[in-house]
Amino acid sequence: MPNAATSPNETLRLAALEELGILYTPLENRFDKITRSLCRMFDMPIAYISLIDRDTQWIKSSQGLDLITTPRSTSICAHTLLVDESIICEDLTLDDRFKDNEYVTSGLKLRFYAGFALKIRGQNVGTMCILDVKPRVFSEADQAAMKDLASWAQTEISLTQLSEVQIKLITELDQAQREAQIDNQTGLWNQGAIKDVLQRAHHRHLLTQKPYSLMMVDIDNFKAINDTHGHLFGDQVIATVADEIKKSVRPSDTIGRYGGDEFLIILENCPYLRAKELSARLLNKIQQLEVTYKEISIATSVSIGFTSTDEITIDSAECLLESADKALYKAKEEGRNCAKGSTQ
Ligand code: GH3
Ligand code: MG
Repeated sequence: MPNAATSPNETLRLAALEELGILYTPLENRFDKITRSLCRMFDMPIAYISLIDRDTQWIKSSQGLDLITTPRSTSICAHTLLVDESIICEDLTLDDRFKDNEYVTSGLKLRFYAGFALKIRGQNVGTMCILDVKPRVFSEADQAAMKDLASWAQTEISLTQLSEVQIKLITELDQAQREAQIDNQTGLWNQGAIKDVLQRAHHRHLLTQKPYSLMMVDIDNFKAINDTHGHLFGDQVIATVADEIKKSVRPSDTIGRYGGDEFLIILENCPYLRAKELSARLLNKIQQLEVTYKEISIATSVSIGFTSTDEITIDSAECLLESADKALYKAKEEGRNCAKGSTQ
């Protein structure tokens, strides 16, 4: 496939992208709502929203595709970045730009592509697309409906809903440093980053005196899931639980992958009773999940430990973390699949 040319405004384009501060930030449910809607509306197996950096396509949300980054050089969307609005290709094998692309000739063997450029300050910073493994017809009405969703995606890109402490961390880091703070399996903050956010949230709490809470969520009997169904199945369980957590908390809450099968959630401006409510709700949502991989489905559960600065007296963020950990231990001890709060 001929590589897409670079945009004539590449410098301006990259500056607009950099200014957004969105590259290599944790994945967020508000974008997943759009990609889920795309799949549902057009009955497509794959949809994603990506931002395209100098050499890398970075995927902010995807359905049916297990990728966080791809090289720009092999990306079909890199071509969409060059057009004013969209590329609709009902059969990729019939298009000289794409017929030799590795995703068309091998792997998924993609056949259908519809992609819209996402513009910020007049610059195409990313794309939103749907894909199928068979050729498809895409009517003008379909294109008009997809255009509406592209404008929703543009709006989301231009807004940030992350908490102030997360924004502060993001703006202090360059892109390479930011990338190193993201867990590449779940797209959430990794352990180092979430600990950093925790320190910042604690400082903010000392200044504002507003309570904040922690939730520690650990998948139950995860080793047995790996042993019975294999490591890849285990990975799917982690991804499904991570997704459910993203859906259940507020956009301003901070989620990190704290260990292999453990997540830490920082809830700023959140008292104990709200953390309790949220823990019960998350527990219930996860109980209803079915994790499916290669035609096998299983139920899963988690144990949750939660704690809050309005419930216990602490002199550091570490104390609160220890308290959440103790509560989680209690939940495991009491039979798992339950949420326990920490009290004095
Ligand atoms: P408990 O209910 O007490 O939490 O028991 P558990 O079996 O879940 O035990 P534990 O939390 O100690 O097990 C974590 C396991 O997760 C151990 C490790 O092999 C596995 N693991 C860690 N990271 C990954 C990963 O990315 N993918 C998969 N599939 N497994 C992982
Ligand atoms: Mg576990």
